[in-house]
Amino acid sequence: MSLVTDTAQLRERAERRIPGGVNSNVRLDGPRIFFARGKGAWLWDVDGRDYVDYLLGQGPAFLGHAAEPVLRAVVEACAKGNVYGAQHPLEVAAAERLCAVLEWPEMVRFGMTGTEMVQAAIRLARAATGRRRLVRFEGHYHGWLDNVLLAPEPGRAAPASAGQPAEALADSIVLAWNDLGALTELLDREGEDVCAVLMEPMMLNAGSIPPAPGYLEGVRRLCSSHGILLVFDEVITGFRLALGGATARFGVIPDLAVYGKAMAAGWPVAALAGRASLMELFATGRVTHAGTFNANVMGVAATLATLDVLEHDSPYERIEHRGAQLMTGLRELAAEASVPLRVRGLPAAFHASFGDDGDVRDFRDVQLLDAGRYRRLAEALVGRGVWVAARGIWYVSAAHGEREVEVTLERARAALAGA
Ligand code: PMP
Repeated sequence: MSLVTDTAQLRERAERRIPGGVNSNVRLDGPRIFFARGKGAWLWDVDGRDYVDYLLGQGPAFLGHAAEPVLRAVVEACAKGNVYGAQHPLEVAAAERLCAVLEWPEMVRFGMTGTEMVQAAIRLARAATGRRRLVRFEGHYHGWLDNVLLAPEPGRAAPASAGQPAEALADSIVLAWNDLGALTELLDREGEDVCAVLMEPMMLNAGSIPPAPGYLEGVRRLCSSHGILLVFDEVITGFRLALGGATARFGVIPDLAVYGKAMAAGWPVAALAGRASLMELFATGRVTHAGTFNANVMGVAATLATLDVLEHDSPYERIEHRGAQLMTGLRELAAEASVPLRVRGLPAAFHASFGDDGDVRDFRDVQLLDAGRYRRLAEALVGRGVWVAARGIWYVSAAHGEREVEVTLERARAALAGA
């Protein structure tokens, strides 16, 4: 059976054998394009059309597609054996390196996905505190499993999927993010039952919303005074907002943090990092975390090689510069076309939207935006060769250069004309 054929044929074949023609429900939301290859900031579909990529495989391709040094390291390491289901030197080196680079954690455990390592964090927090309840925030995403997936209903922990039992969310308390008053009140009332406060330290699954000044510091103080663990889900922010992620960028240290995506430039690996006094609970065997593929060779080799690039050829200033250029360019084009496009957030991961002039501080503000109009613009951008998500997020990689920004703005000019 041929692997590469045209889009129409592939769509038909995919829909026959893969429910919805996609392997993640997140992709039900996007155009059914089939990619033949990717290199640097570019993707090519099976019909030969090119795209400047601003989705980066949902975030991981932070060094661009098929980044040479990481690819080489993975191939070299895997040629000698790719999975042991047992200990090997590279996993030790990767754990040491991760702790050294991030500076605050003392130990890490490796797994495969962000979803999975969030589960490890929750279990550890419950075991460490002897408490069950979990504070969560509107619009933050922590994976697709029963006990974390939320319907987009502010103030309520409601299931988002058929087959997801409501009881699985019974221990979740959902608050508005960036609202220290709401957290203070809740913890004064029910803090003794809460094991952890779990958040994206900058909200990137809905908008691109940094923490309000003093918010993370306030959350840190509240958690410490109530004996609650602060868990940062750095699956998107880690290694993207800075080498040390949001923790370094905003200067607030959690008790536990989950990393994935940019950590390994596109290879499937994730990590839970934390203080030794907590992480050692896994060592006693009292708290279980397991997985056949945990710390497999490709994942840890990719992590080490990615950290090498991030440390020794730091892309952060370049990405800030490129992203800022692009944000400014998009704003100018929108103004020229008299289109009320708002471009907000940080250059490495910004958000574009319609429908609001004011400040966007939380999920409720994001819900007021005109998602339908942006979706149509995203479709027009994709049609002209700019690969973006309908939900408005734009990720910039280390491989985006002057030329990519120029081409993007040219193509965006045409798309915006019809928006
Ligand atoms: N946490 C956050 C903040 C995420 O954005 C995601 C995925 N988008 C996850 C967890 C889940 O990670 P994965 O898809 O690797 O399971």
